[in-house]
Amino acid sequence: MSDYHDFDHFGLDPLIVAAVKEMGYTTPTPIQSKAIPVVLKGRDVMGAAQTGTGKTAGFALPIIQRLLPQANTSMSPARHPVRALVLAPTRELAEQVADNFKKYISKTALRCATVYGGVDMDPQTQALRSGVEIVVATPGRLLDHLQQKNTSLAQVQIVVLDEADRMLDMGFLPDISRILNLLPKERQSLMFSATFSEEIKKLAANFLRDPLLLEVARRNAPAELIKQEVVRVHESEKTDALLTLLKTRGAGGGRMTQVLVFVNAKIECRRLARQLQKAGVNADAIHGDKSQDERMKALEAFKKGEIEVLVATDVAARGLDIVELPAVINYDVPFNAEDYVHRIGRTGRAGASGLAIMLMTGADERGVQAIEKLTKQKFETQTVAVERPRGERRDRPPRRERGERPARAHAPSPKPVDDFFTKPYEPAAESGEALAEEETAPRERGKKAARVAALLGGSKR
Ligand code: AMP
Repeated sequence: MSDYHDFDHFGLDPLIVAAVKEMGYTTPTPIQSKAIPVVLKGRDVMGAAQTGTGKTAGFALPIIQRLLPQANTSMSPARHPVRALVLAPTRELAEQVADNFKKYISKTALRCATVYGGVDMDPQTQALRSGVEIVVATPGRLLDHLQQKNTSLAQVQIVVLDEADRMLDMGFLPDISRILNLLPKERQSLMFSATFSEEIKKLAANFLRDPLLLEVARRNAPAELIKQEVVRVHESEKTDALLTLLKTRGAGGGRMTQVLVFVNAKIECRRLARQLQKAGVNADAIHGDKSQDERMKALEAFKKGEIEVLVATDVAARGLDIVELPAVINYDVPFNAEDYVHRIGRTGRAGASGLAIMLMTGADERGVQAIEKLTKQKFETQTVAVERPRGERRDRPPRRERGERPARAHAPSPKPVDDFFTKPYEPAAESGEALAEEETAPRERGKKAARVAALLGGSKR
């Protein structure tokens, strides 16, 4: 869609365009060119776009435009009912989306509030009670507020399900259904998802009305600007291999900086960050056990370049807004092939190219094959000359691994790591999104690993 070379031609209010220009955006991204005119017209949208494509502005700008006629400076909360609701899977994504909204509405009288679990409810309650047109929320905590009558959704005109696939992965479907049932039937609904499973299609069929399918990236395929590499390592050499890569794969063969390293479990996340620190790498960990404050601090330090390596689990890293992250390393092959697409989507964003390296042991073959199938590519594997502490020997040469039967199958672990995963949702003040913030529930892993998602656009619609 080359009709929209700049933000002046969408018919957006000058107050919005001015705010967008202040953010330094000059050219709309492809999803913005496609989504803005359609959302402005009031159509429902099914957007196939990952975080990093500019999708937030793609829905936020036209939503703001549609709400502008009702913007007012009255002090009365009744004059500021919730008119737009964005549901997001994690605190980080909710904050990020709300931050964007706040910048785009900065020159208008519209108000925006963020609502997520794991933090004190009171400031959120105050914001909701004083009246706010745009609410960005994670589902569990929003239900808590609704239960306490801190807000009402009776006047919502537009609802967005952001990263819908991840919300379903995290078991939010019942919460989402409860929330959607509280919305007026007459409304505009938008749904964004990086991947399209049968469940997502079903949700779209139930919840969207005659939606327009907007697709920007190749289906289930990582952004093309990402250079992907697979490094074959022995299980016992993974950390040394990582250290070697960190030392040698930066610009000009030097040290890598600003690297996001993915692991599959939070225990591993802690352990690896500690090991990297011991080896002199400025590393930190971000996982579901860390408080919101700790996670935001780690993220800020990472963004500023004070932390070189951030070790993360999938859920903790979901939706992190780090523009032009140079590299992502998959220390563990993800349980779900779809997570690979999400993980490496953190690099090569907004037009910048990126590097995605994955470590693969003999036990990972099936996991890697699933990724190859999903992303329709065949990886060339390579090895790395690992610098090991003197005196230490590798158990077996990597070549031997090829014929080995995987010692650890790529299937769901039979038992959750701890009972946190199995605890039912408790709508207490602190529990809000805690469950959601945990690593993807193991029950989902096996199911999804076996299921290679087909996209909505697979058949002509
Ligand atoms: P999103 O996919 O919405 O998370 O956006 C990814 C990043 O791209 C965010 O940091 C945005 O601020 C930035 N961004 C969004 N739209 C544009 C644009 N048109 N030009 C430059 N950067 C943008």
